Amino acid sequence: MIPKSGALFLARSLREKWGFSALGAPSFFRVLCERGWDVDCELRMSPTPQPTVAIAGGGLAGLAAACALSDKGFRVTLFEKRPFLGGRASSWEHPGTGEVVDNCQHVLFRVCTNLLEFYHRIGVADQIRWYDEMTFIEPGGRTSVMKSSPLPAPLHTAPSFFNFPFLNAADKLAIARALVPLTLTVQRDNGKSFQEWLDRHGQTQNAIHRFWNPILVSALSEELDLISVSAAAQVVRESMKSPAAREMGVPTVPLTDLYNKAGDYIRARGGVLHFRQPIEGFTADASRVQLQLRNQQENRQNEEGAPPLSLRSLQGQGGDFDFLILALPFDALDKVLPESPESTPIREQLSHFETAPITGIHLWFDRQISDLDHAVLLDTRIQWMFHKSRIRRHAANARVPHPSRILQKVGWQTTRARVPHPSRFLRRVGW
Ligand SMILES: Cc1cc2nc3c(=O)[nH]c(=O)nc-3n(C[C@H](O)[C@H](O)[C@H](O)COP(=O)(O)OP(=O)(O)OC[C@H]3O[C@@H](n4cnc5c(N)ncnc54)[C@H](O)[C@@H]3O)c2cc1C
Repeated sequence: MIPKSGALFLARSLREKWGFSALGAPSFFRVLCERGWDVDCELRMSPTPQPTVAIAGGGLAGLAAACALSDKGFRVTLFEKRPFLGGRASSWEHPGTGEVVDNCQHVLFRVCTNLLEFYHRIGVADQIRWYDEMTFIEPGGRTSVMKSSPLPAPLHTAPSFFNFPFLNAADKLAIARALVPLTLTVQRDNGKSFQEWLDRHGQTQNAIHRFWNPILVSALSEELDLISVSAAAQVVRESMKSPAAREMGVPTVPLTDLYNKAGDYIRARGGVLHFRQPIEGFTADASRVQLQLRNQQENRQNEEGAPPLSLRSLQGQGGDFDFLILALPFDALDKVLPESPESTPIREQLSHFETAPITGIHLWFDRQISDLDHAVLLDTRIQWMFHKSRIRRHAANARVPHPSRILQKVGWQTTRARVPHPSRFLRRVGW
């Protein structure tokens, strides 16, 4: 899902407080601010010069904005603090193996329509492998599979759910009762946590630990007592609305390969990308935004092969811009906001954001240890296992250097207890 970052608050603020609507592109801001990225915006631009937009941040949000705006006729200049694209969804080369490793597994679901639209736009949609089946593994190794049946939504997963051996009849009844209001009604945010909602709706401890917890904590990156009822209900409702909605997509290539394609896309449309070039602040008046960039001497290199960026050359090609989008993490956004009264309400909103860490653990084995591409792990803090070597085999031109690399989303102790002894696998798969 493409996140609505602080950039969108700022765009609204620019329009409303600093008169950016006078630029003649009000629908652009309306689209960005009020409806998100997924609309077909028609720009009302002056016929003469190409409008220019600076984008701070080469993560998913900045790249998606840059690609969409390139298509709409904007001249895009993207500034990224680091020497690579992708932000939190990026990869690095492991020095010991030479393998390109993602900072952490990223998955999406068919309901992530904005992200899918972005993948189609930049031509990487075929690099995503889709799975209808989700395997749950209990300590000891017993597996259960959730899959769709011919029944219509929202009953499509009911047969596999009722067969789950890791839930007893009381757990299943409680879950089924809770699914009815969550699926069929819109739950408004009432300030209460989803944990409280579950307690009020008679959920058993087993149902919470083995069903709600693995599904919602991994979907929303937060513990149940910090998840709002509306956010939890949205995940449930969206995933139940059609059999396809809950299909999980897993990239078959490193994340950096996906998002470098977005860089190519922007360049092919006349856009420019500046790496190692953080935006430190900006000033804005009714017609222009002027960027404050780090002392240029500090910049070693910008675009690969390009000479270091000087402020003069930047100004020559538009160091001031018609528009600015700040697609930054909330703490970085706070730092670049001007010290002006207009920033106060945005800063106030930003002060409510907190980070929630996710840990990815990469394990390399000298043999194949599982014939599953991925699985949900029950009764542990590790939520998911991804068998990267197997998943990458599905990529076109796959080069799989290692028999079994497992990535776990959040210890080794746990894995040893769960994965059957390698020799059993050796016999099974004939490795
Ligand atoms: C471990 C982990 C696992 C995740 N798993 C999933 C998943 O399975 N599915 C899913 O949908 N989402 C997942 N996410 C969330 C997803 O990665 C983020 O929502 C998404 O990448 C955020 O994109 P962004 O562009 O908003 O921010 P970021 O990716 O943080 O991008 C911001 C960019 O701005 C740059 N920057 C910072 N300051 C400046 C500055 N002053 N000037 C210029 N550039 C600057 C940063 O270097 C960065 O590249 C996961 C996140 C993590 C960390």
